[in-house]
Amino acid sequence: DVLCLLNQIVPYAPALSHSLALPSNSNGPLMAIFLVKMIVSKRKAYEKLEIANKTDLLTGMLNRRFLQMKLEQTFSMLSKSRRSEEAVLLFIDIDMFKSINDNFGHTVGDKVISMVSGQVMDCIRERDYAGRYGGEEFAVILNNLNAAQAMDIAERIRVKVRELEDCTLLGQRKVSVSIGVSAFDDRFKSLNEWLNDADQALYEAKRSGRDQVVRSNFNEPPQIVEV
Ligand code: GH3
Ligand code: MG
Ligand code: MG
Repeated sequence: DVLCLLNQIVPYAPALSHSLALPSNSNGPLMAIFLVKMIVSKRKAYEKLEIANKTDLLTGMLNRRFLQMKLEQTFSMLSKSRRSEEAVLLFIDIDMFKSINDNFGHTVGDKVISMVSGQVMDCIRERDYAGRYGGEEFAVILNNLNAAQAMDIAERIRVKVRELEDCTLLGQRKVSVSIGVSAFDDRFKSLNEWLNDADQALYEAKRSGRDQVVRSNFNEPPQIVEV
Protein backbone atom coordinates (compact mmCIF):
# COMPACT_ATOMS: atom_id res chain seq x y z
CA ASP A 1 0.00 0.00 0.00
CA VAL A 2 2.71 2.44 1.08
CA LEU A 3 5.02 1.33 -1.77
CA CYS A 4 2.27 1.91 -4.27
CA LEU A 5 1.63 5.38 -2.85
CA LEU A 6 5.37 6.03 -2.95
CA ASN A 7 5.59 5.12 -6.65
CA GLN A 8 2.66 7.34 -7.46
CA ILE A 9 4.07 10.27 -5.60
CA VAL A 10 7.71 10.32 -6.83
CA PRO A 11 6.99 12.35 -10.01
CA TYR A 12 5.08 14.95 -8.03
CA ALA A 13 7.49 15.18 -5.10
CA PRO A 14 9.31 18.35 -6.20
CA ALA A 15 6.09 20.21 -6.92
CA LEU A 16 4.48 19.04 -3.69
CA SER A 17 7.49 19.88 -1.57
CA HIS A 18 7.59 23.31 -3.20
CA SER A 19 3.93 23.95 -2.44
CA LEU A 20 4.51 22.79 1.14
CA ALA A 21 7.50 25.18 1.38
CA LEU A 22 9.92 22.32 2.10
CA PRO A 23 13.66 22.70 1.37
CA SER A 24 14.18 21.98 -2.31
CA ASN A 25 17.73 20.52 -2.08
CA SER A 26 16.60 16.93 -1.35
CA ASN A 27 16.30 14.47 -4.19
CA GLY A 28 12.95 13.23 -5.53
CA PRO A 29 12.78 9.76 -3.89
CA LEU A 30 13.87 11.06 -0.50
CA MET A 31 11.32 13.83 -0.66
CA ALA A 32 8.70 11.28 -1.72
CA ILE A 33 9.47 9.11 1.32
CA PHE A 34 9.10 12.14 3.54
CA LEU A 35 5.80 13.06 1.92
CA VAL A 36 4.45 9.51 2.16
CA LYS A 37 5.33 9.44 5.86
CA MET A 38 3.47 12.69 6.27
CA ILE A 39 0.44 11.44 4.35
CA VAL A 40 0.36 8.16 6.29
CA SER A 41 0.52 9.96 9.62
CA LYS A 42 -2.18 12.41 8.50
CA ARG A 43 -4.35 9.50 7.40
CA LYS A 44 -3.82 7.75 10.74
CA ALA A 45 -4.81 10.95 12.56
CA TYR A 46 -7.88 11.22 10.33
CA GLU A 47 -8.84 7.60 11.03
CA LYS A 48 -8.46 8.22 14.77
CA LEU A 49 -10.70 11.25 14.48
CA GLU A 50 -13.26 9.26 12.50
CA ILE A 51 -13.34 6.56 15.20
CA ALA A 52 -13.59 9.17 17.96
CA ASN A 53 -16.50 10.81 16.14
CA LYS A 54 -18.62 7.70 16.23
CA THR A 55 -17.60 6.17 19.55
CA ASP A 56 -19.15 6.50 22.97
CA LEU A 57 -16.31 7.27 25.37
CA LEU A 58 -17.49 5.20 28.34
CA THR A 59 -18.38 1.98 26.51
CA GLY A 60 -16.54 2.04 23.19
CA MET A 61 -19.88 1.33 21.50
CA LEU A 62 -21.30 3.57 18.79
CA ASN A 63 -22.48 6.89 20.14
CA ARG A 64 -26.05 8.11 19.92
CA ARG A 65 -25.45 10.38 16.92
CA PHE A 66 -23.80 7.69 14.81
CA LEU A 67 -26.34 5.08 15.84
CA GLN A 68 -29.15 7.44 14.86
CA MET A 69 -27.55 7.77 11.42
CA LYS A 70 -27.34 3.99 11.09
CA LEU A 71 -30.98 3.66 12.17
CA GLU A 72 -32.04 6.17 9.51
CA GLN A 73 -29.96 4.42 6.83
CA THR A 74 -31.31 1.00 7.79
CA PHE A 75 -34.91 2.20 7.89
CA SER A 76 -34.66 3.93 4.55
CA MET A 77 -32.89 0.95 2.93
CA LEU A 78 -35.51 -1.52 4.20
CA SER A 79 -38.41 0.75 3.25
CA LYS A 80 -37.19 1.03 -0.34
CA SER A 81 -36.16 -2.59 -0.74
CA ARG A 82 -38.57 -4.75 -2.74
CA ARG A 83 -37.03 -7.92 -1.42
CA SER A 84 -38.10 -9.02 2.02
CA GLU A 85 -34.90 -7.96 3.76
CA GLU A 86 -34.96 -8.18 7.49
CA ALA A 87 -33.60 -6.31 10.45
CA VAL A 88 -34.57 -6.34 14.09
CA LEU A 89 -34.21 -3.61 16.65
CA LEU A 90 -33.41 -4.26 20.31
CA PHE A 91 -33.85 -1.70 23.08
CA ILE A 92 -31.93 -2.74 26.18
CA ASP A 93 -32.25 -0.94 29.51
CA ILE A 94 -30.49 -1.74 32.80
CA ASP A 95 -32.97 -2.58 35.56
CA MET A 96 -33.21 -0.42 38.69
CA PHE A 97 -30.01 1.30 37.73
CA LYS A 98 -30.76 4.32 39.87
CA SER A 99 -30.43 2.11 42.95
CA ILE A 100 -26.97 0.94 41.78
CA ASN A 101 -25.88 4.58 41.56
CA ASP A 102 -27.50 5.40 44.89
CA ASN A 103 -25.99 2.45 46.76
CA PHE A 104 -22.57 2.13 45.17
CA GLY A 105 -21.85 5.53 43.67
CA HIS A 106 -21.66 6.98 40.19
CA THR A 107 -18.21 5.52 39.40
CA VAL A 108 -19.42 1.98 40.06
CA GLY A 109 -22.54 2.84 38.04
CA ASP A 110 -20.31 3.81 35.11
CA LYS A 111 -18.37 0.56 35.45
CA VAL A 112 -21.62 -1.41 35.38
CA ILE A 113 -22.72 0.40 32.20
CA SER A 114 -19.45 -0.51 30.56
CA MET A 115 -19.59 -4.16 31.73
CA VAL A 116 -23.14 -4.54 30.41
CA SER A 117 -22.09 -3.07 27.08
CA GLY A 118 -19.28 -5.65 26.92
CA GLN A 119 -21.79 -8.49 27.37
CA VAL A 120 -24.00 -7.01 24.63
CA MET A 121 -21.05 -6.75 22.23
CA ASP A 122 -20.11 -10.39 22.94
CA CYS A 123 -23.51 -11.54 21.68
CA ILE A 124 -23.73 -9.69 18.36
CA ARG A 125 -22.07 -10.15 14.97
CA GLU A 126 -19.89 -7.86 12.89
CA ARG A 127 -22.74 -6.90 10.59
CA ASP A 128 -24.82 -5.56 13.52
CA TYR A 129 -24.74 -2.10 15.03
CA ALA A 130 -24.83 -1.52 18.77
CA GLY A 131 -24.75 1.82 20.49
CA ARG A 132 -25.37 3.67 23.72
CA TYR A 133 -28.75 5.25 23.18
CA GLY A 134 -29.09 6.98 26.53
CA GLY A 135 -27.52 6.92 30.00
CA GLU A 136 -28.04 3.22 30.78
CA GLU A 137 -29.89 2.27 27.64
CA PHE A 138 -28.56 0.59 24.51
CA ALA A 139 -29.97 0.02 21.05
CA VAL A 140 -28.90 -2.75 18.68
CA ILE A 141 -29.73 -3.18 15.00
CA LEU A 142 -29.50 -6.86 14.09
CA ASN A 143 -29.18 -7.21 10.33
CA ASN A 144 -30.36 -10.03 8.08
CA LEU A 145 -32.18 -12.14 10.58
CA ASN A 146 -35.77 -12.75 11.58
CA ALA A 147 -37.62 -11.97 14.79
CA ALA A 148 -37.31 -15.51 16.17
CA GLN A 149 -33.52 -15.50 15.69
CA ALA A 150 -33.36 -12.03 17.24
CA MET A 151 -35.28 -13.29 20.26
CA ASP A 152 -32.54 -15.91 20.76
CA ILE A 153 -29.83 -13.25 20.66
CA ALA A 154 -31.78 -10.98 23.03
CA GLU A 155 -32.24 -13.87 25.46
CA ARG A 156 -28.51 -14.65 25.24
CA ILE A 157 -27.77 -11.02 26.14
CA ARG A 158 -30.18 -11.14 29.08
CA VAL A 159 -28.57 -14.30 30.45
CA LYS A 160 -25.03 -12.98 29.91
CA VAL A 161 -25.82 -9.87 31.91
CA ARG A 162 -27.21 -12.02 34.74
CA GLU A 163 -23.91 -13.92 34.68
CA LEU A 164 -21.91 -10.76 35.34
CA GLU A 165 -20.07 -11.23 38.56
CA ASP A 166 -17.78 -8.85 40.28
CA CYS A 167 -18.16 -9.26 44.01
CA THR A 168 -15.79 -6.47 44.88
CA LEU A 169 -17.93 -4.09 42.89
CA LEU A 170 -21.53 -4.87 43.84
CA GLY A 171 -21.42 -7.47 46.60
CA GLN A 172 -24.37 -9.81 46.16
CA ARG A 173 -26.31 -7.34 44.01
CA LYS A 174 -27.17 -8.82 40.59
CA VAL A 175 -27.38 -6.77 37.44
CA SER A 176 -30.17 -7.38 34.96
CA VAL A 177 -31.58 -5.86 31.79
CA SER A 178 -34.99 -5.65 30.17
CA ILE A 179 -35.11 -5.95 26.39
CA GLY A 180 -37.72 -4.85 23.85
CA VAL A 181 -37.57 -6.52 20.43
CA SER A 182 -39.13 -5.10 17.27
CA ALA A 183 -38.71 -6.53 13.78
CA PHE A 184 -38.86 -4.11 10.86
CA ASP A 185 -42.26 -4.04 9.23
CA ASP A 186 -43.31 -2.47 5.89
CA ARG A 187 -46.18 -0.81 7.65
CA PHE A 188 -43.92 1.45 9.73
CA LYS A 189 -44.31 4.86 8.07
CA SER A 190 -41.31 6.42 9.76
CA LEU A 191 -38.26 5.46 11.77
CA ASN A 192 -40.01 6.90 14.81
CA GLU A 193 -42.78 4.31 14.50
CA TRP A 194 -40.18 1.56 14.56
CA LEU A 195 -38.40 3.10 17.57
CA ASN A 196 -41.73 3.51 19.40
CA ASP A 197 -42.58 -0.10 18.72
CA ALA A 198 -39.30 -1.27 20.28
CA ASP A 199 -39.82 1.15 23.16
CA GLN A 200 -43.29 -0.22 23.85
CA ALA A 201 -41.92 -3.76 23.95
CA LEU A 202 -39.25 -2.58 26.40
CA TYR A 203 -41.92 -0.89 28.51
CA GLU A 204 -43.86 -4.14 28.56
CA ALA A 205 -40.72 -6.02 29.71
CA LYS A 206 -40.33 -3.55 32.58
CA ARG A 207 -44.03 -3.67 33.46
CA SER A 208 -44.12 -7.44 33.62
CA GLY A 209 -41.31 -7.69 36.13
CA ARG A 210 -37.98 -6.71 34.45
CA ASP A 211 -35.07 -9.10 33.63
CA GLN A 212 -36.94 -10.29 30.56
CA VAL A 213 -37.18 -10.08 26.79
CA VAL A 214 -40.47 -9.00 25.21
CA ARG A 215 -41.20 -9.07 21.52
CA SER A 216 -43.50 -6.44 20.05
CA ASN A 217 -46.73 -7.92 18.73
CA PHE A 218 -46.91 -5.43 15.85
CA ASN A 219 -46.31 -8.03 13.15
CA GLU A 220 -48.25 -10.84 14.76
CA PRO A 221 -51.42 -11.76 12.87
CA PRO A 222 -54.48 -10.25 14.55
CA GLN A 223 -56.07 -12.51 17.15
CA ILE A 224 -59.43 -13.96 16.18
CA VAL A 225 -61.77 -13.35 19.05
CA GLU A 226 -64.50 -15.95 19.30
CA VAL A 227 -67.85 -14.83 20.57
P1 GH3 B 1 -35.84 0.89 35.41
O1 GH3 B 1 -35.68 -0.52 35.85
O2 GH3 B 1 -37.27 1.29 35.30
O3 GH3 B 1 -35.10 1.18 34.15
O4 GH3 B 1 -35.23 1.78 36.58
P2 GH3 B 1 -33.92 2.69 36.51
O5 GH3 B 1 -33.60 3.07 37.91
O6 GH3 B 1 -32.86 2.01 35.75
O7 GH3 B 1 -34.45 3.86 35.59
P3 GH3 B 1 -34.25 5.40 35.58
O8 GH3 B 1 -34.38 5.85 34.16
O9 GH3 B 1 -35.16 6.02 36.58
O10 GH3 B 1 -32.75 5.64 36.05
C1 GH3 B 1 -31.69 5.72 35.20
C2 GH3 B 1 -30.59 6.37 35.97
O11 GH3 B 1 -29.37 6.29 35.24
C3 GH3 B 1 -30.80 7.84 36.21
C4 GH3 B 1 -29.45 8.48 35.96
O12 GH3 B 1 -29.00 9.16 37.09
C5 GH3 B 1 -28.54 7.34 35.69
N1 GH3 B 1 -27.56 7.58 34.66
C6 GH3 B 1 -27.77 8.05 33.41
N2 GH3 B 1 -26.60 8.12 32.73
C7 GH3 B 1 -25.63 7.69 33.55
C8 GH3 B 1 -24.21 7.52 33.42
O13 GH3 B 1 -23.60 7.78 32.38
N3 GH3 B 1 -23.53 7.04 34.49
C9 GH3 B 1 -24.16 6.72 35.66
N4 GH3 B 1 -23.43 6.23 36.66
N5 GH3 B 1 -25.48 6.89 35.82
C10 GH3 B 1 -26.22 7.35 34.79
MG1 MG C 1 -33.07 1.52 33.69
MG1 MG D 1 -33.45 4.11 31.21
